[in-house]
This record gives sequence, structure tokens and C-alpha cells, in this order.
Amino acid sequence: MPEFLLSTPELTEAHLARVRGLLASLKSVPALAGRYEGIESIDSLDDLAKLPVLLKDDLQVALAHLSPRAGQGATWVFQSGGSTGRPQIGYAPTGLYMREVHDNWKALTPDDVFVNGWSAGKMWGAHFLVNAYVEHTGCVAMNLGAMNKDEYDPWLEFFATRKVTAFGGTPSVLRLVFGHARDAGIKLPDLRKVLWLGEGWDPQLTEDLAAVAPNARRWGMFGSTETWVVATNTPECAADTWHPLPTKLWSVGEDEMIDFTTLNPDGLNPILRYRTGDAGRVVSCPCGDPRRAVRILGRRDGLIKFRGHLLNVAEFVADVGARPGVARAQLVLKEPADGGSVLEVLLLPSGEAGPRLAAEVREHIVGSAFGPSIVFQRNPHSLEVTITDTLIGNTRTGKIPDLVRPDA
Ligand SMILES: [Zn+2]
Repeated sequence: MPEFLLSTPELTEAHLARVRGLLASLKSVPALAGRYEGIESIDSLDDLAKLPVLLKDDLQVALAHLSPRAGQGATWVFQSGGSTGRPQIGYAPTGLYMREVHDNWKALTPDDVFVNGWSAGKMWGAHFLVNAYVEHTGCVAMNLGAMNKDEYDPWLEFFATRKVTAFGGTPSVLRLVFGHARDAGIKLPDLRKVLWLGEGWDPQLTEDLAAVAPNARRWGMFGSTETWVVATNTPECAADTWHPLPTKLWSVGEDEMIDFTTLNPDGLNPILRYRTGDAGRVVSCPCGDPRRAVRILGRRDGLIKFRGHLLNVAEFVADVGARPGVARAQLVLKEPADGGSVLEVLLLPSGEAGPRLAAEVREHIVGSAFGPSIVFQRNPHSLEVTITDTLIGNTRTGKIPDLVRPDA
């Protein structure tokens, strides 16, 4: 039996009505009906535990068939970045479910001056979702969106002049902005809060913020385009640990895979035991919040095989990214059809990078105990280390994936 995180001791009547509605919706999808055969009703968490999990492709099939519509107001369609797979669609009503987020998470308060630095447009939801949150807070807000490198200095100066207290964005973007500010010696003494959503926290950001904005602390939201925001955390929480929102029922299986069920009666996506691919573990959070929390262990597809050796992409990128002179690293796995895979390590240098950076990082990788280091020792051509001024990013979301597979 999976472990359920629910804000009430058992499913309430309202919860049950919602779950039964979700089941009916999914049963009405011809391509999915078979998997729910024999399941007539859901009366308890035990019944819920017996339901099959819904996978990403299943949900997209269901949404294509159901074309959900909000009861009133607008029906918004968003599309996720597709950093780790095919793009996913999600529907949301006016307000984008952010009232509940605000009720449970006071990242912004009326005295804040906030800059929304998530890129806008192309149907990615983060920018708009955060604006919907801001509308509940009473703060002053500015819509910045994505910046390019040449714009960092004038905008950072603008933030300092306007006494901006809060800035939000995807960690990849935040890392570039605050890494630049650190290298350029820019200080933002009024900045108290950094809101983040869309990727895991980057520990390098903690170091950069300590230099640029020593009063700034991180406030995180966790979710996806299909589930919307499912959890939040505060500066007192561990960066990888999350507190579920009351209408988002988390379930952590024996294999540590997480699935979600949305208990919000206005929910448009049929999120019923929906599995996003993240693994996690139920923990008590260091913040002291008595609500149980989940520590995210990362995606189970984060292990790749390179010339027969397992490589943990996130660990590899974090290790290389922490080397002196490296602002950020990224892996490009080239897998030509005729074999002879090559791992290219792209390095975005920081201000302290010296002329031997590529050689030093190469020596570190080849001499380290990482899985494939033995491959690189035997076959030096299977590793390339390249200095670049631009990593490979998703142009819509600004997310920079740890791994790019151009031949996949
Ligand atoms: Zn906490």
C-alpha cells in the first residue's frame, strides 16, 4: 500500500465525490476504460490504492478526448517546456488555482516589490501562474519575463534603484542572473526573497546570493503543467523537501515513485493517481512544520548508460558545476548510429575561470571515481570538454536541462 499524504485523517465525503468524478471521467475515455474495468466506486484510501497509476501519455490521451471546460470564467490551456520529454498540455480555470497556494504560502506580503522573471508566452504557465498568485498578496509587482545577457546590467541596476525585495524565476535563469551579478560586483541589499519554480534548487545559487543579496532567502513552489502547484516550501525547509497543498493528495509507493490526485472540485485535468516520474520519500521537514513532507529524490530517469557504465546525470553535473571557474555545466550525449558514443561536457565559465579551465575539468573527470571515468581513461576520445558562453536551453522556459541527447 502506498503512503498517502492527506490533510484530513481519511477521505471526506467531498473528497470521495471528487475522486469518483475523476474515475468516471477517465472511464469515459475509450482508450483508457479497460484499465478501470471492475472498479465501480471508491470509498476509502484502500480503494484508491488499488487504482492503476495514470502515466503522462495516458493523461494526454484523456485530455484530448475530454477537452475540459471551466464552469465559469476562462479555460486556459498551457503547455510544459518539454525539457525532459514530449510537451504536456494542461488546462486551468481563471485564477490558475492560486488562491489555495496563497492561503498556505505567504512568500509575498503587501510590503514587497516583486519582479516576475519567468519567461512569458508560448503557452508556458509559470509566468502567469505567479501573477495569479501575486493578485492575492497586495504587493507591488513588475513583469520582467526573460532577459538576455546584454540586459542583465541595466535591469539589475533598475532593481537596485527600485528597491526590489523579491525576484522570481526558474533556477537556471536565477543562476545566470545572480552569477552575473556576483561576477560584476553588483549588490542588491533590499532583496529578501527569491521565488523559484520549474526545476530543483541549484546550490550554487545559495553561494551567489550570499555575495549579491545577503538578506535573500528562497521560497519554492513544486508542480507541473498537468498537476499545477502541488506543494510549497519556505526558507526554513530543506530545498528538496515539500509540504503538499490540502487539495493535492500525494501518494508515495513502495518503489518511492510519487503519484498525485487532485481533490479540488474545480480541477480541470483528470489527475487521479497521476505519476510524473519523480521519486520521493516521506520525511519530517527540518522547518518544524508538523505536516508531513516529501523529500524529492529526483527523476528515476536520471541514470543513463554510457558505453556500458551507469552515469548519474544530476550528480555528474553538480560535481563539475562546483569546480572553481565553472558557473554551470551541461552534458551532451552524442550517440551516432554507428556506435562510439561521446560525452561532451559543456562549461559556462565564471569570472574566476583561468585559461586552463577545460584541461583542469577534464583531469578532474578522468581522475574521479565516477562510473565512466574508466571509459575515459581507456578511450580519451569518448570525452570532450568544451567552454561555451551559452548552454543549450529551452527557448520557451529558460530551463537548461542537465542532459541533451541530440541523436535521441
Ligand atoms: Zn518545511
